[in-house]
Amino acid sequence: MRKIAVNVCRLVLAVAFILSGFVKAVDPLGTQYKIHDYLVALGLASFVPDLLTLAVSVVQSSAEFFLGICLLFAIRRRLVSLIVMILMVVMTLLTLWLAIANPISDCGCFGDALVLTNWQTFWKNVVLLAAAILVRCYPLDMGRIISRSNQWIVMNYSAFFILVIITGRSLYTLPQFDFRPYHIGTNLREGWQRMIEGEDSPYAEFFIENMEDGEDITEQVLQQEGYTFLLVSPHLEQADDSELDELNRIYEYSQDHGYPFYCLTASSQRGISRWQDITGAEYPFCLTDETTLKTIIRSNPGLLLLKDGVIIRKWSHNALPTAEEINGPLEESEIGQLPSDNVASKILWILTWFVLPLLLLTVADRLWAWSRWLNKSEKREVKSDHNNPLNNEQKIMRKKIVAGNWKMNMNLQDGIALAKELNETLKADKPNCGVVICTPFIHLASIAQFLDQDIIGLGAENCADKEKGAFTGEVSAEMVKSTGAQYVILGHSERREYYKETPEILKEKVLLAQKNDLKVIFCIGESLEEREAGKQNEVVKAELEGSVFNLSEEDFRKIVIAYEPIWAIGTGKTATAEQAEEIHAYIRSIIAEKYGQAVADDTTILYGGSCKASNAPELFAKPDIDGGLIGGASLKAADFKGIIDAWKK
Ligand code: PEP
Repeated sequence: MRKIAVNVCRLVLAVAFILSGFVKAVDPLGTQYKIHDYLVALGLASFVPDLLTLAVSVVQSSAEFFLGICLLFAIRRRLVSLIVMILMVVMTLLTLWLAIANPISDCGCFGDALVLTNWQTFWKNVVLLAAAILVRCYPLDMGRIISRSNQWIVMNYSAFFILVIITGRSLYTLPQFDFRPYHIGTNLREGWQRMIEGEDSPYAEFFIENMEDGEDITEQVLQQEGYTFLLVSPHLEQADDSELDELNRIYEYSQDHGYPFYCLTASSQRGISRWQDITGAEYPFCLTDETTLKTIIRSNPGLLLLKDGVIIRKWSHNALPTAEEINGPLEESEIGQLPSDNVASKILWILTWFVLPLLLLTVADRLWAWSRWLNKSEKREVKSDHNNPLNNEQKIMRKKIVAGNWKMNMNLQDGIALAKELNETLKADKPNCGVVICTPFIHLASIAQFLDQDIIGLGAENCADKEKGAFTGEVSAEMVKSTGAQYVILGHSERREYYKETPEILKEKVLLAQKNDLKVIFCIGESLEEREAGKQNEVVKAELEGSVFNLSEEDFRKIVIAYEPIWAIGTGKTATAEQAEEIHAYIRSIIAEKYGQAVADDTTILYGGSCKASNAPELFAKPDIDGGLIGGASLKAADFKGIIDAWKK
C-alpha cells in the first residue's frame, strides 16, 4: 500500500516537473522575462544583468525537466527525492508570498502553456510538496524501470535533448511550441476587431503608432489586404545586428513587390537613429507596447509575415528566409502560405526522437534484465544440486570469505608477527577469496598500521552492547572502528555461554556495530544435546530471529553469518560436509523467507568448527558454504593459508 502511494506520488511529481520544465525550456526567453518580472517585484531588476537571467532560465527549466526524468526512471532516488523536496519547499513558500502579496499576476510555472492564478499555483504546490515529502521519506520504494548500469544513457540523452534540442534550438530560432496569442495562424485582424468591439481580448495592448506623425495605424496595417512584413524589435539598442544585409535584402524585396514593411519597436528615438545609422534602414518605424513586442516574437529582431491580417510566418534573425525562398511574388511561393507543420506533427517529432528511443531503451533493458534473471535462476538450480563439486562460477554471486578468530591467543608481539607473515604471504600469492583476521582488541591498532586491508580485512572478536560510559573493561564498537578495523565477530558460542550474552544483548551489539560501520560476522549454532535432539534448525532460526532478523533488508545485507556447531568448535570433530550443507541450505531458506530469495542468495554463510586445510576443500565445495570461520587453524600462517587455498582448488 505504501509502495503504491509512493509510486503514485513519484509519477505525479515526475509529470509535473517534466511538463513544467519542458514548457519553460521551449521558451527560454519567455522564462527569462518572467524571472525579470520577479526581480522587478523584488526591486532587484537593475542589479541583475540580462545574461544572468537568461542563464537562470536555462538552468531552471532544464533542471526541472531533468529531475522529472530522474523521478520517472527512479534514478539516484535518495538524492533526487531530497532535491525535489527542497525545491518544493522553496516553491511553496515563494508561491504563498505571491498569493498573499500578489506582486505579479502569473507565476509562470507552466510558461504560457497553462496560466494559473497565484492561489491555484500555491495549492498545486501544497499537493506536490506533500507528494515530495512522502517520496523523500521512502525513496527506495520508487520502483526502478531501468537498470542502474543503463541510467547514464537516460540521463545524458535527456540532458542533451532538453539543453540542445529544445532550449538551444528555441534560442537560436524560435520556440517550437508557441502558446502565446501571436502564434502562427493567429488572425490578428479579427482578434483586434473583437477587442475594439469591447470583448475580452489578449490584444488590448496591441497598437501600432507611426513614429513620424504619431498617427495610430493599427487598423490600416491589420486591414491591409495581401502581405505585410513586420520587423519586431522591443529594443533596437539590444537587437542583434549581425543579419543587417539579410534584413535590408528582405526590405528591398518587399518594396519591389509592393508589400508594406514596418519596423515595430518600443525604442526611443535615439535607439532608432542609432539603428538607422548602423544598418542604413529605410523602412518606417512604428511604436508598439514593449511587452506586446516581446510576446509577439522571441527574437530581437524577429520578422513576421501577415497575410490579410493573419500571422502566417515568423522568423528569428538567425533564420531569416533566404534569397531563394523569396524571389518572386509571395502568392506563388511556399512561404507565402501557412506552413503545414502543425502542433500534432511537432508532438510526433518529440515522440519519435525523445520518447521512442527511451521507450526502446527501457524495453531492451528490461529484456536484458529478464535474461540475466533467467540465467541466475538456472545457476541457482544447478547450485541446488548438492552433489555438485566446488565451482567458483556458480558461487560468484556472494562473497567467499575465510576469517580467522584468534580468540584469547597471542601476545602483542606474537600477534603482530603472525599478521605480518600472513600479510606478506598473501601479498605474494593473492587469495581467491576475502580473508579476514579477527584479533584481540590489543592487536587491532598496531596491525591496522601495516595490514594491506585490500587483501586482509581486520576485525575484533567482540564489542560492547553500550555506546560509551562507565563500563569498566568494555570496548565499544566506535573504539573498534577507530583502530582501523572493519569487522567484528558477534554471537560466538563462547561468549554466549561463558559471558551470558543473550539474543537481546547481541541485538544491541549488532546495531551498534552497524552504526559504526563495522561489518558483523554473526555466529549461530547448536550444542551437542540440541543436535542429538534434532533441534538444530529450531536453534539457529531462534538465534537469527533474536538478534538480526529485526534489521532492514539493507542492513541485513551487510551481515555475514557463521554457522558453528558448538560441538565441533575446538573439539577436532567437524560436521560432515553433508551435515554442514544441509543446515546452511536451511539457514539460507529462512533468510529467503524473511528477506526474499535475492537477499538469501547474496548472503555469505561461513562454516566454523574444526575446519582445517584437509577438510576445507570438501566443505567449501558445497553450494551453500561460502567459506569458513577458523579458530585454532588461524593461529599459524601456513595452516590458515592452507584453508584459504581451498578456494583455489
Ligand atoms: C571458532 O571458535 O570460531 C572455531 C571455529 O574454532 P575452531 O576452528 O578451533 O574449531
